[in-house]
Amino acid sequence: MPEPQLDGFFVVHWVAELEILVVDAEETLTELDAAIGDADHGSNLTRGLHASAAILAGRSAESPKSLLTDVGATLPESMGGASGPLYGSIFSGLADALPDTPKISLQDLVSGLRQGLLRVQELGGAVLGDKTMVDAILPAIDTLEEEIAQGRPAADVVAPSAEAAHEGAVATIPLRARKGRASYLGPRSEGHQDPGATSSALLFRALTTVITR
Ligand code: ADP
Ligand code: MG
Repeated sequence: MPEPQLDGFFVVHWVAELEILVVDAEETLTELDAAIGDADHGSNLTRGLHASAAILAGRSAESPKSLLTDVGATLPESMGGASGPLYGSIFSGLADALPDTPKISLQDLVSGLRQGLLRVQELGGAVLGDKTMVDAILPAIDTLEEEIAQGRPAADVVAPSAEAAHEGAVATIPLRARKGRASYLGPRSEGHQDPGATSSALLFRALTTVITR
């Protein structure tokens, strides 16, 4: 199978798939945020993904960079909460790292995601184990890089990253939150899965669906 060249169509589909997964998970994400936050993560993210999908409509001929730049601006505008600017940072960090070409490689995408993660960490100050979205995104990107370095084809690279993100989200359950609203609970944040780690694992699930389709 030839390595995928990722174009604007890919970005539109990735965001559309993420929108579907987020809408499906809205209630779960809200319940998780009710336990250690303020019960708005599901609705925040649903609003952000509806707005992002709407802004991409009919634009699949544009470059991945220009589309992802607009997603990165739309998420913080449309979402409330701490997570709007953080989600925006993933996409704007990714977009800024990409060449402005009609097609990008999987390697470009993975390097860009790493830049997006760094921006999340700059903005929010979270490291691995702080019980945030970083706990899902960081192992997913590490896995993508490791699998690519082993020379595996794209279709085999993305599914393990989605699994790593999911495992990272589940691994937040015993942790005590050290960033964000949940950190105000101190030890009472232990025993609950972090909503932002749970939702950001969906980014990699959507990526897997779109790349292996
Ligand atoms: P808010 O906390 O403002 O209500 P949301 O409920 O939408 O925002 O999002 C909460 C999620 O945001 C948390 O579960 C966590 O994953 C993520 N988050 C909060 N603060 C940070 C931070 N400083 N760094 C990374 N992620 C964070
Ligand atoms: Mg909240």
